[in-house]
Amino acid sequence: MIRIQHFIDGAFVEPHSGTYFDDVDPAQGKPYAEVPDGDADDVERAVASAKAAFPAWSQTSAAERSRLLLAIADGIEREIDELSRIESIDNGKPITLARSSDLPRAVANFRFFATAILHAHSELHVADRGGLNYTLRRPLGVVACISPWNLPLYLLTWKIAPALATGNTVVAKPSEITPMTAFHLSRIVEAAGLPPGVLNVVHGFGPKVGPPLTGHPDVRAVSFTGGTATGGLIAAEVAPKFKKLSLELGGKNPNVVFADADMDETIKTSLRSSFQNQGQICLCGSRILVEKSAYPAFVERFVAAAQTLRQGDPLDPATEQGAIVSKPHFDKVMSYIALAKKEGGTVLCGGSPPGSVNDRCKDGFFISPTVIVDLPMSCRTNQEEIFGPVVTITPFATEDEAISLANGTTYGLSASVWTQNLARAHRVADRIEAGTVWINCWMVRDLRVPFGGVKGSGVGREGGEDSLRFFTEPKNVCVKT
Ligand code: NAD
Repeated sequence: MIRIQHFIDGAFVEPHSGTYFDDVDPAQGKPYAEVPDGDADDVERAVASAKAAFPAWSQTSAAERSRLLLAIADGIEREIDELSRIESIDNGKPITLARSSDLPRAVANFRFFATAILHAHSELHVADRGGLNYTLRRPLGVVACISPWNLPLYLLTWKIAPALATGNTVVAKPSEITPMTAFHLSRIVEAAGLPPGVLNVVHGFGPKVGPPLTGHPDVRAVSFTGGTATGGLIAAEVAPKFKKLSLELGGKNPNVVFADADMDETIKTSLRSSFQNQGQICLCGSRILVEKSAYPAFVERFVAAAQTLRQGDPLDPATEQGAIVSKPHFDKVMSYIALAKKEGGTVLCGGSPPGSVNDRCKDGFFISPTVIVDLPMSCRTNQEEIFGPVVTITPFATEDEAISLANGTTYGLSASVWTQNLARAHRVADRIEAGTVWINCWMVRDLRVPFGGVKGSGVGREGGEDSLRFFTEPKNVCVKT
């Protein structure tokens, strides 16, 4: 059995508790590694090490910080095949997806922010009658970066890279369900020569490691991606302590299809936006809304296409649909399918585990792509985030109705709009309550653009300038001239 360790002060260390818990391979349904059961003492050590490392790291030149972060990117890239395999085993995602999306993005996150800091500029405001204001942007100190299990290294590095690039020191807390690539990142970071204490990785259960970390008086900011309920707990912990807080939370994203859309492209991409990573992407379009005149044909074609998705062993490069991340999450998704039936929904395909994947995966957590119709927008199935390979399809009559259905949840992360009518596309994009709207596409990501949610999907934006600003504090200096 593999046993991983915390990474604190440049060293791999045992948990203070001396205890470990199991990391389960979801495709096989059995433990394959042991994870440190971190606690407040480990957090204390990690924060102290980050605090001690801050003065030197924050004074390190941008050129040197950039060089080290680029070396980390190179280190990940050198091992990209093996890390893709590790991510696939830990999470259950198809290895081809890990290799084509998760790992290249982790490399890109480091390169993007490593080079962004070389192009930084300062603001200057010259007053009409004497006076010159310039704005200094300084790193905050020790920051906490907390990430979820669905895109493990992709999302952890999306936070760590800008935090380190801007001169902060970091205590990172990966998901206890998928800690493996964070452990390997620690190894790569050490080999790249990042000074001890600049990045610390503490493993463990959220409720045990999270509060001592987010509430620690020496932690100046918290960047969190995860569930909306957890985001609420963190906000309650952090707000009275006046720390900077970025919350990237859940979604129940609409995928709005007008009858004039290019249906071949719409169905092809909607299949991905519904089921990629087994529907376990915060940006997945779990509510498909289709204009009435196109509804019957869309449903028929979409269901037929969903049934062709290749479900299989995540380590088989041909697999398109892998395993659900854990048994508790499998149970949660299955309970929502049962709820949908109770609420009057008709399951047109999926709704259960596939017959058999292969012998290696016979005890794994698999659910076939599931399409449900005949549900009102007000029901729980259409209101709550399921975060699995489950979508509903709902007809609408008018543009106004489409927008009201699209906006009819407590979430507001992203949306897709499919139409050939340019004016309508812009109009609808403007009226949809979401941090990101894609027109005739999905998950086309540009690391420079603001990324985040509205309503229950979060507070704050990440990406490009927004990340650089989040991890720095502006200070205005006024000079009399
Ligand atoms: P989660 O909220 O259960 O856990 C996320 C992280 O928070 C984990 O590392 C966990 O250990 C930690 N945590 C748990 N309790 C904590 C506490 N009290 N204090 C501090 N940290 C704590 O989420 P999850 O199940 O890992 O991830 C799935 C969720 O993440 C979904 O809701 C999904 O939509 C969301 N998500 C959002 C985005 C986005 O960019 N908006 C991206 C990916 C995933």
